[in-house]
Amino acid sequence: MRLFKASGINVYLHWSWFALVFVFYWIGAFEPDPFWGVMKFLALFAIVLLHEFGHALACRSVGGRANTIMLWPLGGVAFVSPPPRPGAVLWSIAAGPLVNVLLVPVTLAAYVLVVGQTPMGQWSPIQDFVASVTVINALLLAFNMLPIYPLDGGQILQSILWFFVGRTRSLRFAAIVGLVCAPILFVIALLIGWPLLLVIAIFIGWQAYMGYRAAVAMAQREQMMNPWEATR
Ligand SMILES: [Zn+2]
Repeated sequence: MRLFKASGINVYLHWSWFALVFVFYWIGAFEPDPFWGVMKFLALFAIVLLHEFGHALACRSVGGRANTIMLWPLGGVAFVSPPPRPGAVLWSIAAGPLVNVLLVPVTLAAYVLVVGQTPMGQWSPIQDFVASVTVINALLLAFNMLPIYPLDGGQILQSILWFFVGRTRSLRFAAIVGLVCAPILFVIALLIGWPLLLVIAIFIGWQAYMGYRAAVAMAQREQMMNPWEATR
């Protein structure tokens, strides 16, 4: 479902997003105050959207293509194809979390202004909302910067390694880290009982596997193009 178009980028909402709304409703996330519950949920996706715009606009600034952003239950996806150079890829990936970094002082300032010295138990709904948005942004940033491919932290690690060991080996290394960490995240999700983290862990494992396969295919192609160079 197309929501709007900004700076030439179409923003879509995937139908499964509504399933997430239902799950949140079902587990009582919008209680006890449905209005502010919904506002927090929308704020979460507004932050995700700004993050994705960071990726898309950065990708364009280095001459890449980025026309679509899609919001879905696990956050957002900016369909970016930067030029295949490590610097261009690094900037396209890093610009997403950079938006969250820029939001840290903004949300902290709002927190100081609105919440101030009020003790936690006595927050008004708006104070609770501002505090939640501050925490949501910080948590999104922290989780996203874990160096686990395909999270942004893992992709940043890959593009930094790309400078030194080339695209194929950096991707293979990052994908292996993702493959190792996905089951660990899965177990953590089971232990703390977070179904959403469980789904994220499966998604990370699947994407890391696809990344590994892509790296293997790239290595084979390199060997075909230049057998002497590749086997040296
Ligand atoms: Zn991102």
